[in-house]
Amino acid sequence: MHFFKENVSLKPYNTFGIDAKARLFYEAHSLEELQWVVDTEVFSNNQVLWLGGGSNMLLTKDFDGLVVKISLTGKRHEVWDEDRVLVTAQAGENWHAFVSYTLEQNWGGLENLSLIPGNVGTAPVQNIGAYGVELKDSFYQLKALHLKTGSVEVFDKARCAFGYRDSFFKQKGKGAYIVTEVSFVLSRQNHQVHTEYGAIQSALLKMPGQVSIQKVAKAVISIRQSKLPDPAEIGNSGSFFKNPVVSEEKANDLKQQYPNLVAFPLANAQTKLAAGWLIEQCGFKGYRKGDAGVHAKQALVLVNYGNARGEEIAALAGEIKRAVFAKFAVVLEPEVNMI
Ligand SMILES: Cc1cc2nc3c(=O)[nH]c(=O)nc-3n(C[C@H](O)[C@H](O)[C@H](O)COP(=O)(O)OP(=O)(O)OC[C@H]3O[C@@H](n4cnc5c(N)ncnc54)[C@H](O)[C@@H]3O)c2cc1C
Repeated sequence: MHFFKENVSLKPYNTFGIDAKARLFYEAHSLEELQWVVDTEVFSNNQVLWLGGGSNMLLTKDFDGLVVKISLTGKRHEVWDEDRVLVTAQAGENWHAFVSYTLEQNWGGLENLSLIPGNVGTAPVQNIGAYGVELKDSFYQLKALHLKTGSVEVFDKARCAFGYRDSFFKQKGKGAYIVTEVSFVLSRQNHQVHTEYGAIQSALLKMPGQVSIQKVAKAVISIRQSKLPDPAEIGNSGSFFKNPVVSEEKANDLKQQYPNLVAFPLANAQTKLAAGWLIEQCGFKGYRKGDAGVHAKQALVLVNYGNARGEEIAALAGEIKRAVFAKFAVVLEPEVNMI
């Protein structure tokens, strides 16, 4: 039996641990339930928020509408060719549990993306990435429900238009589709490990024997655990801002003023700046205002020390944005979805 719950606290459903309420709430466990909900009058007559693992959103107030939690589960696989396998997971599968499952089967490609919070269905929305690897590198295709027509469409890599923490689903397709399942092509034997990051290399040196995809995952997990706060202990949403991209000319000007500027040259005379460094230079690392704060080890991560309201975290983010602009004339954009 389908029914909508009323006045539901979203605290258990967002990693910032913000106690905002949803006026209406529905949890969809299957494609049929998703199709059912988009066909209802409640859906048509209300603003709707789709919820995966809630690890990339800041709820700035109560949600006066319908929250739909996507909880479709299940995985399947088929042999792709001699060395590869095609693996598909439903949108509501937990991302890290899925990565761990692929590693247990000795399938390679996702190991550098270990321990990223959230669900499989949301991972392509922002093309999650970490330690030199992005989701798009192993991506094959996804299926998404078109909310207007109720039909399920297939998206290959080109149609997804992946970019840095970006995809079609954050641009033209925003609000029009819901991802229902994602497929990856993974290696079965000839694994290509990505160990370019110095921190991964140092962690691997402490593990005797040959490098394996499982060891790379172990290295990534230990680095992440040492650097990033665990949302189960301190509410947070990972990197709050994107690393800003500026012109090479602007980066050179800044480098003259600030020789320690952390910058990565890109193609097309562009340069990516480390947002965490910019924020730290403005004195925010470890800063705290009530229960809203900036993590003591990583200035890019805003945290909820207990009972911060979403609007307090948003106000702190605004303060940081203004300070970075005043000092460096660089605009920070949030990576987190502000709701
Ligand atoms: C400690 C920590 C570390 C992190 N590290 C990284 C990192 O290294 N790299 C990285 O890329 N990200 C990182 N993140 C961000 C986050 O893990 C990813 O953005 C993740 O993909 C979000 O998944 P989610 O299911 O929690 O999304 P949610 O927060 O539930 O949703 C995010 C957005 O997607 C929409 N949405 C949800 N489900 C769907 C769907 N099925 N189809 C379409 N739209 C949907 C929502 O409406 C919302 O707008 C980190 C977060 C935390 C808390």
